[in-house]
Amino acid sequence: MKLIIAANWKMNKTRAETEAFCREIKARQEDFHDTEVVICPPFTSLEAAGRSLSGSAIKLGAQNLFWEKAGAFTGEVAPPMLVDLGVQYVIIGHSERRHLLGEDDAAVHKKLKAALEHRLRPILCVGETREERERGETEVVVGTQLRRALEGLDPALIEELVVAYEPVWAIGTGIAATAADAHRAATLVREIAAECLGSAAVERLRVQYGGSVNAGNIGEFVALPSIDGALVGGASLAVDSFAALILSAQEAAR
Ligand code: PEP
Repeated sequence: MKLIIAANWKMNKTRAETEAFCREIKARQEDFHDTEVVICPPFTSLEAAGRSLSGSAIKLGAQNLFWEKAGAFTGEVAPPMLVDLGVQYVIIGHSERRHLLGEDDAAVHKKLKAALEHRLRPILCVGETREERERGETEVVVGTQLRRALEGLDPALIEELVVAYEPVWAIGTGIAATAADAHRAATLVREIAAECLGSAAVERLRVQYGGSVNAGNIGEFVALPSIDGALVGGASLAVDSFAALILSAQEAAR
């Protein structure tokens, strides 16, 4: 299975900055033969990114979506609008949306279902906060987030699904989880997904680690049999650091 490395740009980059990045990363795509690379710009840059990446194997992802197809939902973006822009992946349930913007498990479930119904591939984020970790609740928190998200989904769609284990305390802090912690959580993700969707389906599930990943530490994560790639924030904003990260990952996973 190829690695999957996704860039989450969050609320960064104008259209011109997006085009410059995409042109440069596209020029280096031959180096990324063992990796599915996904770029997730803000909504305002999706079209520019799609145009700049066209003709390349690099995929386009969004950072969020709404679950209805159309209607009176001011400020929201519907799945068909993303499909129309050539979007193939969508991040769902990122911790910044859960903790800063009040997104709950019910909303995450509806978004996941809507994405799959429109053949958008979800990158579903789960992970515990520092306080939850200190209270020894990691397994309960990750397990609950995942069970509520996956409840009632069609197991045939699992091939489309990517789950990113992203401990909240590791995001943007420069303190990544240890490989042992990431392995424990990724194994739990696979067990729970098997419980919800069946063990046959779960063999095709892809699991990422996310949280302060860079070119120096990515190797520890992708060398694990439980981890298929990474969701990357800060280190995905500059072409050099993102490309170096992908190359290190490929080297370690070989
Ligand atoms: C993220 O936001 O998904 C993330 C992993 O950020 P960072 O790599 O900056 O920790």
